[in-house]
Amino acid sequence: MKCNIIKDLLPSYIDDICSEDTAKLVEEHIQHCKECKMCLNRMQQQTGFVQQKPKEIEKAISPFKKINKKRRIQVITSIIITFFITTLGYLVYENVGVVHDYFSPRVTAVADVKDDSEEWQSLNFNDKNYLIYDRVFWKKSIVNAASNEYDSGNESESDILLRVKDVNGKVVVDEIQVKSGKSVKLEGLKKNEKYFFEIKAPQGRFIINAI
Ligand SMILES: [Zn+2]
Repeated sequence: MKCNIIKDLLPSYIDDICSEDTAKLVEEHIQHCKECKMCLNRMQQQTGFVQQKPKEIEKAISPFKKINKKRRIQVITSIIITFFITTLGYLVYENVGVVHDYFSPRVTAVADVKDDSEEWQSLNFNDKNYLIYDRVFWKKSIVNAASNEYDSGNESESDILLRVKDVNGKVVVDEIQVKSGKSVKLEGLKKNEKYFFEIKAPQGRFIINAI
């Protein structure tokens, strides 16, 4: 068998697509033909190089790929979770009155001062004549709400004087002025204690918010 015929057959021999008889011929020939054997070796190395290299590279980089993929999933997951928690928290805060009231406590008193007497008049916040700062979220401020926040037009736009007593009738915040539309922070009031609020004001209707 001529060497150039064998060389023509080598590619299909390497790819294992030739017949058994052809394979036998090639094997018999390369046993005694150095040149064709070398040619076969060279061709095997070349195809081996081409086939093997990507696998090796793949194998070598696959752990990094896995890590990258895992990390990517973690980052995306945490972004999604953060987004949902933030959105949900905001929606709950805005739409569920109970939650809003808990974190932004606020009670209102409407005081009708009949005449310009110098008497102290007690405030009823949400129908209670006392107020308990039962949560840390109370700002402990008093707001003399401006009348233009309300529609009736009867509210006074005067400044008021405010004082706060404890359960023993002791004055704990004395004659503090709260200007119309302004707020004043009350100092020294404790949590979970009953406090009684009184105002002195000119004749009119006052909307007082405790926040
Ligand atoms: Zn040969």
